[in-house]
Amino acid sequence: MMDISSDEEEENMVNCITMQQLQAFGKDFIQKRVSVQCTVKRLEEKSTWYYANCAKCKIEVFREAGRYKCTNCKRTIPHPDKRFRVSTICTDKTGSIGIIFPDSQVRRIIQKTVFDIQAEYNEEPLEEPFPDILRQLHHKDYIVTLLLSEENIINGSTVYEATEVDNAIEKTADFSPGNQILDKVTPNMLEDTP
Ligand SMILES: [Zn+2]
Repeated sequence: MMDISSDEEEENMVNCITMQQLQAFGKDFIQKRVSVQCTVKRLEEKSTWYYANCAKCKIEVFREAGRYKCTNCKRTIPHPDKRFRVSTICTDKTGSIGIIFPDSQVRRIIQKTVFDIQAEYNEEPLEEPFPDILRQLHHKDYIVTLLLSEENIINGSTVYEATEVDNAIEKTADFSPGNQILDKVTPNMLEDTP
């Protein structure tokens, strides 16, 4: 993944544009960052929520006959590093786009790593369920910094990589933190104080 965080990049950043304005950027904006304010309307629970990478060369590794293999190092990786990559659909009043939430941001929000989640399984399931704890992203408002790719600008892809995910102004009736527990409680179980 790209690592850009120089001051120069900060100055070039375009803040708080709408989904509709996103469509209008030309070639000059490839690899530039813009921010959008949006709501996580959907979590793509059928997509994989993490990926494995080779600790040596960092490329993504896949399972072949039960073992992770790095096609670059040409070796089996017995214990690959695992990182979050959570696919969402985010919406503002002008439209919707796909946004991939990266490992660093998901870790900061949920305060867990992929291994923390996997450590809770008694045995490794064949098909890993979408973890409950990730559902706390759902319906939240965020200010998301997107890194515009060639795919986005030249090919019109509407799936964007996020580099930063910050809380937007707190919504009312949001009992954070610890809301993953409260999510399991239906609203009328919470007594209104008169
Ligand atoms: Zn490798």
